[in-house]
Amino acid sequence: MRLRNIPGSREAIAKSRWCIQEPEQYKGNWHQVFANKNPIHIEIGMGKGRFLMAKAKENPETNYIGIEKYSSVLLRALQKMEEEPLENIRFIRMEAESIADVFGEGEVGKIYLNFSDPWPKDRHAKRRLTSRQFFARYHQILQKEGCVEFKTDNQNLFDFSLGEVTEAGWKLDGHTRDLHHDEAMVQGNIMTEYEERFSSMGNPIYKLIASR
Ligand code: SAH
Repeated sequence: MRLRNIPGSREAIAKSRWCIQEPEQYKGNWHQVFANKNPIHIEIGMGKGRFLMAKAKENPETNYIGIEKYSSVLLRALQKMEEEPLENIRFIRMEAESIADVFGEGEVGKIYLNFSDPWPKDRHAKRRLTSRQFFARYHQILQKEGCVEFKTDNQNLFDFSLGEVTEAGWKLDGHTRDLHHDEAMVQGNIMTEYEERFSSMGNPIYKLIASR
């Protein structure tokens, strides 16, 4: 998701109590930020944050951290939080590549990837959030029983991702090529902004869950 640059968004993020500045300083100590020991789940590329906020409302005993690289997009999530503050959410503006500098070993309980950028060119494959390079980073920060949940409407990206799960030595706990018509996997599904847009255009939604 890319929005027109919004003047002042960087400044708004810098002074928001919901946004964590210099997140590396909390590596291994994220429970301090929330002042409790609840599990920490993250969404990488959260966009405007609707999915994460719905999750956080539903599960007050889980802490959620949304990661987004563009400040103009993150600003939208902040504006929603001002209207309806949730104590179990924080945001980080960062590029996901350095995720292992921000979270300690086994510090994260679950990783959500929703409608990640497809990076269609072969030479950009390692930038995809479901590449083996990213699974290696997730391996570092995810607790043993943790998992990655990935949704997309992009068939090529989904096929690539299935291959990368195996290539990375992870296992597939579940997958579907039509989430909204898969009775078991759709249970409790929370639609993201992209999911709503693409499924209303008639695109099937793909989902996989991977763990080690
Ligand atoms: N999850 C949302 C938005 C999907 S668009 C939804 O499903 O509606 C993908 C989002 O991920 C964009 O906002 C993009 O800026 C962000 N993103 C993509 N690659 C990223 C990366 N490497 N690090 C951080 N954010 C990223």
